Amino acid sequence: MIKNDPFANATQQVNDACDILGIKDKGLREYLATPNKVLRVKIPVTMDDGKIRIFTGFRSQHNNDRGPYKGGIRYFNPEGGVEYMEREVMALSSWMTWKCAIVDIPLGGGKGGIFVNPKTEKISDTELERITRGFAYKISEIIGPAKDIPAPDVYTTGKEMTQIMDTFSKLNGNQYSPGVITGKPISMGGSLARNVATGLGAAYCVREAAKTLKISLKGAKVVLQGFGNASTFAGEYLEKMGAKIIGVSDSKGSISIPKSAKVSKILEYKQKHGSVVGFPGSKKISTEELLTTKCDVLVPGALENQIDAKIAKHLKCKIIAEAANGPTLPEADPIIYEKKILVIPDILANSGGVCISYLEWVQNNMGYYWTFDEVANKMEKNITKGFKDAYEMSKKHKVDMRKATMALAVDRVVEAFNQKGIWP
Ligand code: NAD
Repeated sequence: MIKNDPFANATQQVNDACDILGIKDKGLREYLATPNKVLRVKIPVTMDDGKIRIFTGFRSQHNNDRGPYKGGIRYFNPEGGVEYMEREVMALSSWMTWKCAIVDIPLGGGKGGIFVNPKTEKISDTELERITRGFAYKISEIIGPAKDIPAPDVYTTGKEMTQIMDTFSKLNGNQYSPGVITGKPISMGGSLARNVATGLGAAYCVREAAKTLKISLKGAKVVLQGFGNASTFAGEYLEKMGAKIIGVSDSKGSISIPKSAKVSKILEYKQKHGSVVGFPGSKKISTEELLTTKCDVLVPGALENQIDAKIAKHLKCKIIAEAANGPTLPEADPIIYEKKILVIPDILANSGGVCISYLEWVQNNMGYYWTFDEVANKMEKNITKGFKDAYEMSKKHKVDMRKATMALAVDRVVEAFNQKGIWP
């Protein structure tokens, strides 16, 4: 029995969406919730000291009714151990299916990983390369540009993606295959705008939400939780749209900036001093105070499980853009809905990343590369439409945006499934 089973949670969300859509067929519900395939592999590696160590890796392929499986590969060691990790990648692969469907890109859902933590264990670069290439070899039969396209995730980078691409290409008779993986460095066929994608996508969502609520972003007050990739770019693009940053945080603490400050200035300070705490003109506050600051837009962009029922009761924002994955606990959702705060759920708010991964794959497949603006404009269209479609769904079924977004995604996958039917 897995404690806090993430896959049980993912299954519940699919069932809730089926309830909204009136899907009663038990078999179809099970089909939608369960991965098509979960591959578990043993990766033997000769370590630098000459000893053999066995690593365990996974690739979960959830659904490919709308296109090849797509999703990250993480190197991590969750507390629940290897068995927990299997359930986690299964859940994450399910969320990838829905994420791709919401922004209407022709890809399905996958996720994988190796039970190893390169940040806390002593693993040399050469050992890590052998682990990566060993894993790539073991999953090589089920991945491919038209089958399953992995990407970076927790503690993996463009370096590992390049090694996976190179291993795959060599195993296939040296066939140049940049489209087998995304998140590659630009010199290896990566896409422009991938580095800003998640934050930029979140900012586009906020712009649409603000339009819907008839809030002007000129002078709108924004609070960012976290000051990493997703949150700083969300902040910078919201600034470009006229908003002002009045609160931020990082792992060392939270600050309020009553007179507001530019993201670039806060970043400069953080780079020099190691934290946003102490930024001139700011006051140190608690996490709870940060999240419940009176503002127009709250961007939880760091960690999961941040907004519980207690915090939800005291929220004083109009829009929540979940740049992070899972920042809101299920217990908080009804309270937030009651308060008429518009939530842009994580699978929509942070889908800019997968949109640009998709565009990287498209560029690889055609062998022609777009400019930054071309890529950003294409992503903007998908995200904007995803927001509008989800908002309409929430009005039509009188449900919150989280439930509406899932229902929209499930509906799109069911549509594709029904077109094909079951064969063989
Ligand atoms: P990151 O490592 O670049 O940044 C994380 C930030 O969170 C850092 O500033 C860190 O200081 C801060 N942080 C850590 N502990 C904190 C705490 N207790 N309180 C406040 N801040 C804290 O990571 P990221 O890539 O920006 O990812 C952030 C979230 O966004 C994650 O949930 C991730 O899954 C999600 N996400 C990111 C992307 C992407 O492309 N970067 C895509 C989809 C989802």
